[in-house]
Amino acid sequence: MQCNFCEWRCNLADKKHGVCRMYREEAGAVKERFPHKWCTYGTSRIESLPFYHVYPGSRSMTIGTTGCNMDCRYCSNAYVAKEDPGKIQETIYEFTPRELVRMAEKLGCHNIVFNVNEPTMSLPSLAEVGREAQKAGIPMGCLTNAYMTEEATALMAEIFSFFNISLKGLNTGFCRDYLGIPGIGPVLRNIRRLAETSHVEITTPVIQGVNDHEIDEFAAFIADVDREIPWHVFRLLPEYKMKENAYPSVEAINRALEKNRRVLSYIYFHNFIGSDWVNTLCPQCGALVIERFSLGCGGDKMGGFYCRDNKCPQCGYAIKMCGGWTDWHAKEGAR
Ligand code: SF4
Repeated sequence: MQCNFCEWRCNLADKKHGVCRMYREEAGAVKERFPHKWCTYGTSRIESLPFYHVYPGSRSMTIGTTGCNMDCRYCSNAYVAKEDPGKIQETIYEFTPRELVRMAEKLGCHNIVFNVNEPTMSLPSLAEVGREAQKAGIPMGCLTNAYMTEEATALMAEIFSFFNISLKGLNTGFCRDYLGIPGIGPVLRNIRRLAETSHVEITTPVIQGVNDHEIDEFAAFIADVDREIPWHVFRLLPEYKMKENAYPSVEAINRALEKNRRVLSYIYFHNFIGSDWVNTLCPQCGALVIERFSLGCGGDKMGGFYCRDNKCPQCGYAIKMCGGWTDWHAKEGAR
């Protein structure tokens, strides 16, 4: 029995659990080993996930499970993504899809975002959560490495209406040595596919001396898909097997990004305190349309929203947006 959720297409016969250790074969079908089990749930500002062009100001319920289909040497969530999922099950929560969505309502959340590990690890459970969330009128989004199959990509496009896709590297050597996959082709294919039907933002973690020389190529690829896709360049502070690596130079990345402002409409550079690159400027006239603060380490926050109808107040340019400005406190009455 072959699992077709991601491009590993593992053979699950003879009680094997595949590369991610999250699926098994049962009665001729691929089943999750740990359905409806969640390693975390909480609330977050959507800007800190990061989504900069999705319901700005909104309150997200964040969820995650365990396991991953990549083996990134610098993973910052290795304690859930790379640990044997069977070993940590007793430390995590069990909620039905209905309970999870009800929790989001109680917590005054406007949307639900899967953001800890890779959503492909728990697609059947997430499809059920998606149906419940749809009934409750709560949109869902996710962070993904996009290494899934075309069939799984289509399913994800039904579950989630907004994506932040991690585009980590472009060359085959980097994929093999730093991500543990044979190549980036499926990720590029899935970015193009999802950008056709869903809201897509892209994040690239930059590692000093490893993928920082590819900044122009990343920008060129994204522009070829759609120059309006927001691109988050993330100053990666490597963990896991790369704890000893030097932190990336803010100045060097600043210089490399500056010229790409002509290539892409929205470039952001964050994960360090006081970044000047977290505001949204109108691509046509340069006016400040959304102001943010960066507190580093996923602590981004909106300061001001100056395009209430998603149009630049100065020149009328339509700012790319999924949904509109959302008052953080708007759903507190539902608690
Ligand atoms: S989701 Fe897991 S079991 Fe399925 S193909 Fe991918 S790595 Fe293998």
